Amino acid sequence: MSNVLVIGETDGSEIKNISQQVAAVAAGMGEVTGLVMGSGISEAGMKLSVGKIIMADDTSLENYDPVKYTSIASNIVKEHNIETILLGATSMGKDLGPRLAAELNCGYLGDCLEAGSEGFVRPNFAGKVLAKSNPTGTIVATIRNNAYPAGEAWSGSVENYSGEMAESTLNTTDIENVGSGTVELTEAAIVVSGGRGLENAENYDSMIRPLAESMGAAAGASRAIVDAGWVPHSHQVGQTGKTVAPELYLAIGISGAIQHLGGMSGSKCIAAINKDPDAPIFKVADYGIVGDLFEILPILKSKF
Ligand SMILES: Cc1cc2nc3c(=O)[nH]c(=O)nc-3n(C[C@H](O)[C@H](O)[C@H](O)COP(=O)(O)OP(=O)(O)OC[C@H]3O[C@@H](n4cnc5c(N)ncnc54)[C@H](O)[C@@H]3O)c2cc1C
Repeated sequence: MSNVLVIGETDGSEIKNISQQVAAVAAGMGEVTGLVMGSGISEAGMKLSVGKIIMADDTSLENYDPVKYTSIASNIVKEHNIETILLGATSMGKDLGPRLAAELNCGYLGDCLEAGSEGFVRPNFAGKVLAKSNPTGTIVATIRNNAYPAGEAWSGSVENYSGEMAESTLNTTDIENVGSGTVELTEAAIVVSGGRGLENAENYDSMIRPLAESMGAAAGASRAIVDAGWVPHSHQVGQTGKTVAPELYLAIGISGAIQHLGGMSGSKCIAAINKDPDAPIFKVADYGIVGDLFEILPILKSKF
């Protein structure tokens, strides 16, 4: 059993579900301290389900600042003799995790599917290999969204961070929302993704986006249509895009190339629509419809 630090994230008003999943993983690994950083996050941050929460609540922390966030987290790790640092494999976690490992001069395991006292499991080679690691010494690890269920919500004791904070020359001047709809792709319970079978950007906009919206899903894409300029890269699922593991992944007009599968094969349920019965996507699909998406999608849409 080791001292574990969970770095939680809020969306401003609520603690993120991925952070509660990480807290649930950490509970079995040792004595857990939570850290939440931001501005005006105290109410949301105190919902992180760990025994003790350290809150770094300051206006200068409103937007993610890698220099400041790394310095606060590393100070806490040193002060509390933390050996295991866990974060969600979110955009912030994927940036902060390696920085923190470099600062602490320790190992980093990214995008873990399993984490526990016995070791960590993470995918390699676009998910073709699962590598098990049993690190000794301090380790920073990010946990993939939906790899674990979130535990019951409860709050521990809360303490305000009073230590040092590094000076940063970074200054956020503009934030542009380039999300894939109302739901963040990596946190969505349902992802509706479209590929080259849609033929053009207009069909993506008129068929995939409305279906995703009416299902409360995020809209994803294959790289082929990102490269073609139909949708921004923020929508891309796969080896060089985002990794998702929703309850339901709907692949529409996507062949299922290995690089695409690397980003979504951890989904709980995969359903595919493709006119080619031999499309590789059907090898990983739990449900498949062999047919023309232009005939099937209007029927599907009418059900939501
Ligand atoms: C280094 C590297 C990294 C990569 N990273 C990624 C990545 O992160 N994500 C990613 O997605 N790809 C990635 N790729 C690209 C990948 O290899 C594929 O080229 C890409 O995924 C194909 O996209 P697609 O399935 O949309 O297109 P296609 O392979 O062209 O498939 C289109 C599918 O639509 C079907 N279809 C056509 N018309 C219809 C219709 N009317 N109704 C139903 N079905 C229809 C076809 O049968 C076909 O299966 C990467 C490649 C490389 C080399």
